Amino acid sequence: MDDSTRRSFLRDLSLGAAAFTAAGQGAQTNQMPGTPPSGDTQPQPSHPASIMAIAAHPGDAFFAMGLAVALQVHLGGQGAFLSLSLGERGSARIDPAQYGPLQRQAAKSAAHMLGARAEFLTYPDGEIPVSEEAKFAVCDLIRQYRPGIVVTHWRGSWHKDHEACYKIVNDAMFYAGLPALDRRHPPHEVGKLFFADNWEDANSFTADIYLDITTVFESWQEACAVFPMWRGENGFRYNDYYQSLAVTRGCLCNCKYAVALMSPAEQLIRRMKAL
Ligand SMILES: [Zn+2]
Repeated sequence: MDDSTRRSFLRDLSLGAAAFTAAGQGAQTNQMPGTPPSGDTQPQPSHPASIMAIAAHPGDAFFAMGLAVALQVHLGGQGAFLSLSLGERGSARIDPAQYGPLQRQAAKSAAHMLGARAEFLTYPDGEIPVSEEAKFAVCDLIRQYRPGIVVTHWRGSWHKDHEACYKIVNDAMFYAGLPALDRRHPPHEVGKLFFADNWEDANSFTADIYLDITTVFESWQEACAVFPMWRGENGFRYNDYYQSLAVTRGCLCNCKYAVALMSPAEQLIRRMKAL
């Protein structure tokens, strides 16, 4: 990469971050179900968008997606963390019957510390089904919380639950926006979808949005530390990995700490058109 390319790259990053913080809840207007979110071409709202992180396991929601949620809440938006399972089979030392409730309590505490809500669907850890039932369950929570932004797993994962979550969320967003689909809550179109930078979902992951999360880095660290697996207790040093990643990403966009996200291809194309 030559110098001129690098400069334009960094300019694009700052535009991306600005676009993210301005992302709207108003996307339900004029958007047909099943069409890509309309990206930056939609009118910008005067208030920060709400955000929902939807993850296979509580650790993914907070460690890989939590900084984006924390930032959006810091800016004045509403935040919610949804875990499709409790990650109860994640410990070799603690029985799942005990570990599940520990994970649930940690997620509740961490969400509270970040000013967000925690929701759970208790599909079995390792066996999250790509079923219509799961898609409608997520659809109902999307309709209930009405996020302008959803962050979830990228499909390029070696973890079957993460790949399942990607598929469930994509279809759940489609169902959530279908006006003719009668559920408990009225239809809701999610304005923007992003994929999180997760060590288990790195296959073909390409970051295109960088967020300066320096203001929320400390509170995010404290929230993550309530999880019994944060410091490597289960074999992977989440704390070292995600803290170092924030430093690395920060170097790339000239701030102390940053987090990177990936846009769906159709959303990226629309943003490029808007430029
Ligand atoms: Zn996971």
